[in-house]
Amino acid sequence: MTQPYDELLDSVREASLIGSTAGILAWDQETMLPRGGVEWRARQLAQLASIGHEMWTSPRIGDLITICEGDPALVESPHSDSGANLRELRRNYDRQVKLPQSLVAEIAKTQSLAQHAWTEARAKSDFQQFRPWLEKMVELMQQKAACIGFEGDQEAWDVLLEGFEPGARATQLQDIFTPLRERLTELIGDLLENGTPPAEDFNRERLPIAVQEEYVREVAKAIGFDSHRGRIDRATHPFCSGSHPGDVRITTRFHEDNVVDALGSTMHEAGHGMYEQGMPVDHAGTPLGQATSLGVHESQSRLWENHVGRSRAFWQWCHPLVQSKFGAPVAGYSAEDMYRAANVVRPDFIRVEADEATYNLHVIVRFEIELALLRGDIAVADVPAVWNEKYRDALGIEVPDDARGCLQDVHWSCGLFGYFPTYTLGNLFAAQLFEKAEGELPDLHDQFSRGEFTPLREWLGRAVHEHGSRYTADELCERATGEPLGMDALLRHLEGKLRPVYGL
Ligand code: ZN
Repeated sequence: MTQPYDELLDSVREASLIGSTAGILAWDQETMLPRGGVEWRARQLAQLASIGHEMWTSPRIGDLITICEGDPALVESPHSDSGANLRELRRNYDRQVKLPQSLVAEIAKTQSLAQHAWTEARAKSDFQQFRPWLEKMVELMQQKAACIGFEGDQEAWDVLLEGFEPGARATQLQDIFTPLRERLTELIGDLLENGTPPAEDFNRERLPIAVQEEYVREVAKAIGFDSHRGRIDRATHPFCSGSHPGDVRITTRFHEDNVVDALGSTMHEAGHGMYEQGMPVDHAGTPLGQATSLGVHESQSRLWENHVGRSRAFWQWCHPLVQSKFGAPVAGYSAEDMYRAANVVRPDFIRVEADEATYNLHVIVRFEIELALLRGDIAVADVPAVWNEKYRDALGIEVPDDARGCLQDVHWSCGLFGYFPTYTLGNLFAAQLFEKAEGELPDLHDQFSRGEFTPLREWLGRAVHEHGSRYTADELCERATGEPLGMDALLRHLEGKLRPVYGL
């Protein structure tokens, strides 16, 4: 009885084509679209979202899933091609079919317009300009959660989280985030009070943007981002958009006095991009050809950005490249200077520019605010004040304006509620994976110092990329690292690196 399964996969691939077309238009919106095209683009994306939704939720797909689930040969092994595809298709179908098409189109249209309003509000640091859009978006998200419905002890925020991190719950995250926050606060406090901060003049050198661009493109190529199957462009908020392993778009950004941001953003998005490029191409357009969760996706970006890009061995390799690209302004810096500058810890305002130690505190603040918004404990109008108070509390800093406060991230304008915690889950998984890779590839750091990154990329391919959604995030973690997700590897990594850098 393979015929219904083949018909199901054909329909799913058709629906995926629509989604990937919308993905390219969304990429274009962030990289190329002239201002005058914003409204029209919103209508294009809303139309595609609506068509895609209709295809994903057609009664025929529902019937085919049910028929296939009745065939033991297809479902008896949960990790077979059909077993995994059917698990994911059922989950997706059950969520989507409960959403009225009008709501899907309304969300898509609001996303485009709200994102545009956010860009303008952020440029002027004017939360009031964005407030009505955020109010509308929170309301739409509450409607979305209510339509999908609550399973067991789920609350509205959990229902949204489920779209990114299947199986996770706010209360479980709190169980990890609370002790993590404590341990990180302790470490950061010790570094700042008792340590000697490394010099960071290298990070502040003014370097021509055209040369920065050449430089980060070379690094992306060296670590394995394949430009024959992808592109690197510029965007205000760097992201990765993958529609097929043969066409993966990543974006980065440049500031004259912040080459570290350009490098970090590029390595981060290249990490996402290599995951997309490493997906099993035969399964493109089906769940098996897609990431299993956003936390897993983020583990790939953070691993390259932090565990590779902030390692001593990486800078031993990168140092001569930096010297040859930028010349005189960087001539006085050694590889060790660059490594130490890459590991400065400073509580600061902007999440995407945060160091490895304070980064998770930024995430925890957003998680708490989202939860409060969705629970109705705070109003949208309270967000700037609550944000600033939480930054005072968690990071000990006074937020000077909303552009450097609650307007800094694009996510809420796109309706991405439940998304932020996946960043910290990604950090935890990255640390566990990297520790495992170090054990299995004993000369890993020597390889980095010689510019050899292929063994690590191939190891990640075997551990993570090639499996797509065959395993759930929890299963993948246990399988790849031998342990469930926890905070120990991340804390070992941070303590082991940062204390020596700070002379402790
Ligand atoms: Zn990312």
